[in-house]
Amino acid sequence: MNRRNFLIHGSTALAGLFIASSPLRVYAAQHDHQGSQKLPSLPYAYDALEPHIDKRTMEIHHGKHHQGYVNKLNAAIARSHDLQHMTLEDMLRNIEKVPKHLRQTVINSGGGHANHTLFWNIMTPNSSEPTGKVAEAIQSTFSSFDAGSEMFDKIAKTHFGSGWVWLVVDENKKLQIYATSNQDSPLMKGHTPILGLDVWEHAYYLKYQNRRADYIDAWGKVINWEQVNTNYLAAMKA
Ligand code: MN
Repeated sequence: MNRRNFLIHGSTALAGLFIASSPLRVYAAQHDHQGSQKLPSLPYAYDALEPHIDKRTMEIHHGKHHQGYVNKLNAAIARSHDLQHMTLEDMLRNIEKVPKHLRQTVINSGGGHANHTLFWNIMTPNSSEPTGKVAEAIQSTFSSFDAGSEMFDKIAKTHFGSGWVWLVVDENKKLQIYATSNQDSPLMKGHTPILGLDVWEHAYYLKYQNRRADYIDAWGKVINWEQVNTNYLAAMKA
C-alpha cells in the first residue's frame, strides 16, 4: 500500500496519529498489498563491488542479514493492522507512536531494513566523483569536501561496536555527520539519511577481519554519488 492509500484508508484511531512523510524513493514500494515488507533486490550483482566488497560478504549480508530484519519486522507487524498499512519510513519517523510492545522490534528490525535498503542503493560498481548540489553542500557545511570526508571516516573508524555512520539532512535542512548504534535510524530523530556506512562486523569481517579502516577506505571507492545527490535533493524538497 502506498502513502496515498494509507492516507485514504488510515481511518483507525492509531493511524490518525501518524504523520505521513514524503518517502525517499529508496524506501518506496517496500511492502506488498498484504502489508508485508519485502527484501529489495540489489541494483547490481553480488560480485559487482569486487574487489572492494567481496561477493560472499554481499550474499550473506543481503540474503541472510537483511532478509532476517525483514522477516522479524514482518512477524511483529503481522500483529498490528496499523503498522501493516504504514510505510517503513513512516513507522520510523513516528516511532514513539508505535505500540510499546512492538517498538523495540521496529527500531531493530525496521531500522535494519531501512538502513540496509539505503546502503545497497548508495553503492555502485561505477563510482564517480562527488557531484551536484550535495558536493557543494558538503563543501560549504564542513569548510571543504575533504574535511567533511575526513570527519566521516574518523567517526566510522572510531565508532565503538556495531552501528552506522551517516550523512543526513536534519530538521533545518542542514547536513550533519554522526554515528548511531545498533540499527538505530536517523529517521527516528526526524533526520533524513542520504548516505550511510554499515560498520557492523558482519559488513566486512570475512574479507577484512579486524581491519575496519581498510574496509572504510575500500567502501569509499564504491559510493554512488549520483544517488547520494538524488537523495539529497529529495530530502531538501520533502
Ligand atoms: Mn549490515
